[in-house]
Amino acid sequence: MPVSAKARAGILITGTEVLTGIIADRNGPWLSERLRAIGVDAAMIEIVGDRPDDVLGALEHMASQGMSLIVTSGGLGPTADDLTAEVVGRFSGREMVLDPALEERIAEILRPMMSRWPGLDADAIRVSNRKQAVVPQGATVLDPVGTAPGLVVPPLQTGGPTVVVLPGPPRELQPMWEKARATDAFKAAISAATDYRTGVLRLFGIPESEIAGTLRAAESAGLDLEALEITTCLRRGEIEVSTRYEPAAEAAYRALAEFIRERHRDTLYSDDGATVDDQVANLLAGRTVAVAESCTGGLLAARLTDRPGSSEYFQGGLVVYSNEAKAALARVDRALIERVGAVSSEVAEALADGARARLEAEIGIGITGIAGPGGGSKEKPVGLVFISVTSSDGERITRMVQLPGDRSDIRDRATTVAMHLLRRLLSGQESARGSRTGAGVG
Ligand code: ATP
Ligand code: MG
Repeated sequence: MPVSAKARAGILITGTEVLTGIIADRNGPWLSERLRAIGVDAAMIEIVGDRPDDVLGALEHMASQGMSLIVTSGGLGPTADDLTAEVVGRFSGREMVLDPALEERIAEILRPMMSRWPGLDADAIRVSNRKQAVVPQGATVLDPVGTAPGLVVPPLQTGGPTVVVLPGPPRELQPMWEKARATDAFKAAISAATDYRTGVLRLFGIPESEIAGTLRAAESAGLDLEALEITTCLRRGEIEVSTRYEPAAEAAYRALAEFIRERHRDTLYSDDGATVDDQVANLLAGRTVAVAESCTGGLLAARLTDRPGSSEYFQGGLVVYSNEAKAALARVDRALIERVGAVSSEVAEALADGARARLEAEIGIGITGIAGPGGGSKEKPVGLVFISVTSSDGERITRMVQLPGDRSDIRDRATTVAMHLLRRLLSGQESARGSRTGAGVG
């Protein structure tokens, strides 16, 4: 098989509990990100149950697709359904042999456990211990993080894939990945890796179709997009344009970024990978903020406290669902709620003022809306949310938005809109646009 110009890798997740959805896969995305960081092109993630034939089939499929590296997760434990090492041995045509040093090493790890549970069947433990010490001949053994050793298994014939075998529990897999990377067998397998670069542009307040149109226009305008691997995705109500390219295509990427910037000056807010949460955290330095939330139930507070150093600027949050709570905790005038309704721009503003006053912050944010289902009416449908941001200097931005999706989408997007309004207020961008209530973000 010809060695491809780029090192391509397949990630094979094993485990019936992952296949059936009882446990969400955390290792596939994690490994994919790590591979990308070292310039290896992660081409596929496959999930199979604990069946030897399926594991073998997936390994063969990946080899047939030209992967020079395969990373597996799971099935390394001492029980009978833990069979990855053996299947990988079969796949690479390597005999399984007992590694006496490894057997002793595992026994050492188990010793404290044996003394803590004196009733354990010593023979049964010796058998399973020995099973974990039987490895494909010629494999590099990675020291156990739990009790299971990992493996780096090179191909018998040049051109075949190297297989890195890692345990399933993420807290074991992650440190062992670092050990695997340091081995000669691993370095040999990725020697063809290219240094990839990734550029990320983030836009807020336009539909995805607009970006698709811009990319078509870029092509028509003669920009060279050939060497750029462009992925657009919708995340938390924002558009993320992520582009991967080799160093030689740097100029092509810069031209694309400039083209997008020209066309979307108002909505492109980040070109250096920073998220709105990062930007807000930076802008808040030296200022304080407090929130009063109804339909988002504390999610904005959670988002604002998700950065190191947030205790410097986040004063606190009120979750005020009932009208009584809005009045008692956030000091919203009961008569106002009666008059205009709890879901209104007036109440959003009163919540922002109340949060600021009650929690002695310079900036207050209020959110009130209908996250549904079943809570809406004809005039105030599910997804209608009012958000207000106010500061002690008398600045105020209030928006009405109609957000799509189910409850969790609406709540998530409402916090995204709030973060963007906060960002605008903090960066002083709002002065040019004035304080208006407008619809249509989403
Ligand atoms: P053990 O020695 O713990 O059995 P193992 O390598 O055999 O390790 P598995 O039996 O496949 O691993 O999985 C053990 C546990 O690790 C699972 O029950 C699950 O809690 C966690 N786990 C395994 N794979 C994943 C995964 N892809 N994502 C998240 N958690 C996982
Ligand atoms: Mg297991």
